[in-house]
Amino acid sequence: MAEHPEGIVLTTVDSIFNSLRRNIGAPVMNVKPVRDTINWARKSALWPMTFGLACCAIEMIATGAGRFDIDRFGAGVFRPSPRQSDLIIVAGTVTLKMGPVVRRVYDQMPEPKWVIAMGACASTGGPFDSYSTMQGVDRTIPVDVYIPGCPPRPEALLYGLMRLQDIIMREAPSAYIFESDGTVRRQRALEGDDDLQNISPLDREAEEIVAAAQT
Ligand code: SF4
Repeated sequence: MAEHPEGIVLTTVDSIFNSLRRNIGAPVMNVKPVRDTINWARKSALWPMTFGLACCAIEMIATGAGRFDIDRFGAGVFRPSPRQSDLIIVAGTVTLKMGPVVRRVYDQMPEPKWVIAMGACASTGGPFDSYSTMQGVDRTIPVDVYIPGCPPRPEALLYGLMRLQDIIMREAPSAYIFESDGTVRRQRALEGDDDLQNISPLDREAEEIVAAAQT
């Protein structure tokens, strides 16, 4: 019996399985064609949670309707249960009272899972700099893509979705399954990965801005 640094007690069988996962499973999943296929399948079948909190939700609903047709991106199957979802689009104002509920719903979603903060309110609190409003949903759950606007149009949500799909294509799928001792760690890209050259121009721009600010 051994104890994982995070306090989980591992039996010998657990340790053997972890070793197999890390030394055999992960390298196989990280072979580029396998990785690309898994990531392509994941990005092409995102199932968003039905989670509208305020006015932005109307734009989210419009995105799912015929005129904008989110189904073209494989993300049109809105689920009423976090157990069946892998994407939560936080669309609307998050109050402090609602924060723990958002967290609970997020925790109930199985890995791998992603988060889009839709609109100014979900991203930063928006116009509501008040005692009751959470100043950005990233204070309670990790956000992958922020979409500005009040409200953002459906095209903006679709653009955010495409950026999320870019992120998913750069992920190491094994990180969710094989490199975990009971906890899930995210790994967005592998060291020495050729895909790092394919970072989208927007990400590059963000990197340059951060680098400029640090100098
Ligand atoms: S960002 Fe604007 S449209 Fe969206 S929930 Fe906040 S106030 Fe409403």
